[in-house]
Amino acid sequence: MKPMSTHEVMNQVPPREEIDEFGTHAAMREGVERHDAGWAQHRLHLTGQRVGSAAFQRDAARANRVEPVLHTHDRYGRRIDEVEYDDSYHRVISAAVADGAHTSAFAEPRPGASVARAATFMLYAQVEPGHACPVSMTHAVTPVLQQHPHTGATWLPRVLSTAYDPLLHAGKTSALFGMAMTEKQGGSDVRANTTAARPLGEGRYALTGHKWFCSAPMSDAFLVLAQAPGGLSCFLLPRLLDGGERNGIRIQRLKDKLGNRANASSEVEYEDAVAVLIGEEGRGVRTIIEMVARTRLDCVLGTAAGMRQSVAEAAWHARHRRAFGALLSDQPAMAAVLADLHLESEAATATALRLARAHDDDASDEEIAFRRLATAVAKYWICKRGPGHAYEALECLGGNGYTEDFPLAMRYREQPVMAVWEGSGNVIALDVLRAIAREPGSLDAFDAEVSLAAGADRRFDDALGRTRRLAAEVAAGGMPEARARELVSMLALTLQASLLVRFAPAAVADGFIAARLVDGVGGLYGALPPGVDTAGILARV
Ligand SMILES: Cc1cc2nc3c(=O)[nH]c(=O)nc-3n(C[C@H](O)[C@H](O)[C@H](O)COP(=O)(O)OP(=O)(O)OC[C@H]3O[C@@H](n4cnc5c(N)ncnc54)[C@H](O)[C@@H]3O)c2cc1C
Repeated sequence: MKPMSTHEVMNQVPPREEIDEFGTHAAMREGVERHDAGWAQHRLHLTGQRVGSAAFQRDAARANRVEPVLHTHDRYGRRIDEVEYDDSYHRVISAAVADGAHTSAFAEPRPGASVARAATFMLYAQVEPGHACPVSMTHAVTPVLQQHPHTGATWLPRVLSTAYDPLLHAGKTSALFGMAMTEKQGGSDVRANTTAARPLGEGRYALTGHKWFCSAPMSDAFLVLAQAPGGLSCFLLPRLLDGGERNGIRIQRLKDKLGNRANASSEVEYEDAVAVLIGEEGRGVRTIIEMVARTRLDCVLGTAAGMRQSVAEAAWHARHRRAFGALLSDQPAMAAVLADLHLESEAATATALRLARAHDDDASDEEIAFRRLATAVAKYWICKRGPGHAYEALECLGGNGYTEDFPLAMRYREQPVMAVWEGSGNVIALDVLRAIAREPGSLDAFDAEVSLAAGADRRFDDALGRTRRLAAEVAAGGMPEARARELVSMLALTLQASLLVRFAPAAVADGFIAARLVDGVGGLYGALPPGVDTAGILARV
């Protein structure tokens, strides 16, 4: 190429592409092996190469730039309610579905299947997070369909399919699902829902009302909460009726969102939309809760994936960019920031994969009790840590990081949604108090897992003791709601530390304990206490 006439372009970083994102992710590789999914390694390498390719990254960037457009009517004035996506989005989601990022854990259940699926989902979400929303909701709805075969049976083969068909037509053999709970007058408090369900007989109802948030409105069907005569109930709402005509679902507009821009999120209205009751009338929350729990798991996976992208991009930049006569990565202040970012990413990855294992089909009663509490704890902590992590990683790229030419601006805008969605921070923190008070077995199982690292490090043991004292206050019914976040944070940190002590290299476990469990300075990244083995940690990135 002819050089520019005014100057030579130097000291800019080469693109981080044509990389095996699985092969280069030591914490994920080891977690997959540890949690019984070693059999999936070969496939995960292929996925890692796919999402790390220049072509996939180009599609990811384009899907976030060329945003979905709502067409409420066709050119003749007929209502169509169609969202048009760029082809890049279709390519991304099609690859993820073909790889089983949505339902492979249910299609081929075996020990570690949920871990393999989690790793697949994370690899895709690491590069393009928007498409992960419908992929996650389809994953999450599957156990509900399995538990209610009377209504779910016809849909199960469709959600287990690895075909992606963006069109809506009769005879379609695959399906993606969404969920619609949130209304204008009350999101977290779904009891305030006003959408009404009028019985039509034989388990069918006509829904009339609205939803204030309905992501992925081009899904084939949705789980919806609405007020039936017997109280708040859960319904399966298809977009197409049995006869092939469109159901009474109107997309009013798309949300203009901070991030998550490749994914359409909409406001919808229902006018006598025909839906099928799932579970019993008045038991809507109980029915949909399994879906909610699985989407919370995916919020953890998605955030951990974002953290991996953040620290990988930051380290890549610092290892190629020189300032003041040396590579950035060789300069101690930058090495400390990168090491600290990596500690967060590795802890999140280890937690995410451990949690995924507890969601496998072969989960014992103790594992189910563990995941009840651990999912909420991890959803609160890891999702809350996401935005700050992305911000610090972005700054490692200097001015480039703040521009849309590099992926971390997108990531910074993306991370908060996983904390807001599926239970915002306080709602989750209060859920943890509720779980401990009402299901004490969940705390016992959680404590048993964390305690596996007891005795290895005095600082860890001290933190475990503090956490136990806080949890005991809740179990005794004595903890005010205002202190819920303090307890959940401690639960999360001790779980993460326990996993790292047992499974990560000593430099990582020691660094995490020193920087997170012992009083740090101000809470910003890069202020690591003396003695932390920065080079040892960075060897993992
Ligand atoms: C991009 C995006 C996509 C979404 N997609 C969907 C979707 O597909 N389907 C769907 O159903 N919803 C969807 N949502 C909605 C989302 O789940 C809700 O916004 C979320 O559950 C919070 O509900 P809310 O907005 O009504 O806020 P509120 O419930 O009003 O909460 C506001 C704040 O108050 C806090 N709070 C609530 N109760 C308490 C309490 N008792 N004590 C202390 N603090 C409390 C919350 O933690 C939150 O910080 C989406 C949201 C976003 C941003």
